[in-house]
Amino acid sequence: MPAGLHLSIPRPPLAAAEVVLARTDILVLGAGIVGTSIALHLAKRGMAVALVDRGGPGEGTSYGNAGIIEGNTIFPPAFPAGWASLLRIALKRSPVASYHLSFLPKVAPWLAAFRAASRPERLAETAELMRPLFARAVAEHEALVAEAGAERYLSRHGWLKLYRTDKALTEQMPELELAARFGIATVALDPDGARALEPALAPVFRHAVHWTGAVSVTNPLALTRAYATRFAALGGLAFTGDARTLHRADGRWRVETAAGALDAADVVVALGPWTPDVLDPLGVKLPLAVKRGYHRHFQPRGNANLIRPVLDAQNGYCLAPMEQGIRVTTGAEFAARDAAPTPVQLGRLLPAARELFPLGQAVEPKPWLGARPCFPDSRPVISLAPRQRNLWLAYGHAHWGLTLGPATGRLVAEMINGATPFCDPKPYAADRFTR
Ligand SMILES: Cc1cc2nc3c(=O)[nH]c(=O)nc-3n(C[C@H](O)[C@H](O)[C@H](O)COP(=O)(O)OP(=O)(O)OC[C@H]3O[C@@H](n4cnc5c(N)ncnc54)[C@H](O)[C@@H]3O)c2cc1C
Repeated sequence: MPAGLHLSIPRPPLAAAEVVLARTDILVLGAGIVGTSIALHLAKRGMAVALVDRGGPGEGTSYGNAGIIEGNTIFPPAFPAGWASLLRIALKRSPVASYHLSFLPKVAPWLAAFRAASRPERLAETAELMRPLFARAVAEHEALVAEAGAERYLSRHGWLKLYRTDKALTEQMPELELAARFGIATVALDPDGARALEPALAPVFRHAVHWTGAVSVTNPLALTRAYATRFAALGGLAFTGDARTLHRADGRWRVETAAGALDAADVVVALGPWTPDVLDPLGVKLPLAVKRGYHRHFQPRGNANLIRPVLDAQNGYCLAPMEQGIRVTTGAEFAARDAAPTPVQLGRLLPAARELFPLGQAVEPKPWLGARPCFPDSRPVISLAPRQRNLWLAYGHAHWGLTLGPATGRLVAEMINGATPFCDPKPYAADRFTR
């Protein structure tokens, strides 16, 4: 369990029955926002679904994100373009990214592929290929939120990106132009305009862009739990078990759980950053790396308030208003998934964050650590696994797992039950890495 994880909301009842060997239509491994959304979409289509996790729903990476449903996403974060920013990262002075030196040789091939995918023409291609998923992101959440009775966790105030220099805003122009072409609303603001929306922000920035259509979540854990409760209400069963026990038995997929063995014709692996633990032994090797990230909650000072998430673009952190306090999230740390936490980026960014917003006392004794599961082309894998029968994959959602969980759930369910998928799933196929 990630360091500093605090569970303040009672877990939903998991209706795991005592079973010795049970058969079901489909196993879903991993009850993060992605796996839970898939299980819910399959249950909505009348399938018998078993959702298996070693913990409770939403307690992995999905616990700690910035809560932004970024249907407006255009370009993925790119490999640093200028030598100056690369040097700052190399010298460990940048709050935007950090790394463990001993991990660099291992991640070097992934970084090379990530750098190649960061060329302007590749970023534009990624924007086009990802648009069908992002375009459905908010609407698919709204549909699940309505049936799960989870409206109270959604905040419809968009999000604000702040730029401290003119140059930083100029660099965003290609993204803003593409947003206009995609019909995504943005409002450019000066500091006064931004402070009319968020009076607690200090005018330490020169420009702001309000992405008005984004939606945010005030408690990502509670949202995943609400979807899990809805899944149970539709007859879905949740089990505690270790997904690494997945194996073929009698021509089906079988996994061991605390309640006994479960088997099904199809399995969906949605284990986020832990997916390789199950796929590697099956010989399915895809180029996943993790961008680790931290968060910590702070009380606002006095009666300061934040209505929507705010990104301080040059410093690479977000301030996100959560039920627990103001959640400060960091950019990427390149390190082994299971290496001990080294939250140095929080130390580097906090002076800038405190200058921008009156942060008071930290809420928890230690920061939380999570790991964004990322492919070098910043697209998830949502498809059958190469050279395996009835093994479905849904992982690698990088910076957008919360955003894309329900859209992914719908796409997977449509592919599995033979319906016409709402978008062409080809750009998300695993075989783009094995062809
Ligand atoms: C700091 C930070 C900020 C972020 N901000 C945003 C944001 O604002 N918006 C956004 O859209 N995304 C954001 N993300 C990304 C997002 O959180 C992830 O993409 C998303 O949570 C991934 O969801 P998942 O369901 O794939 O994985 P997870 O939530 O990690 O779920 C995987 C599940 O698998 C289970 N599991 C693992 N191993 C086993 C095993 N052996 N047996 C059984 N179960 C197992 C885990 O317990 C876990 O529940 C952020 C990420 C970070 C780290």
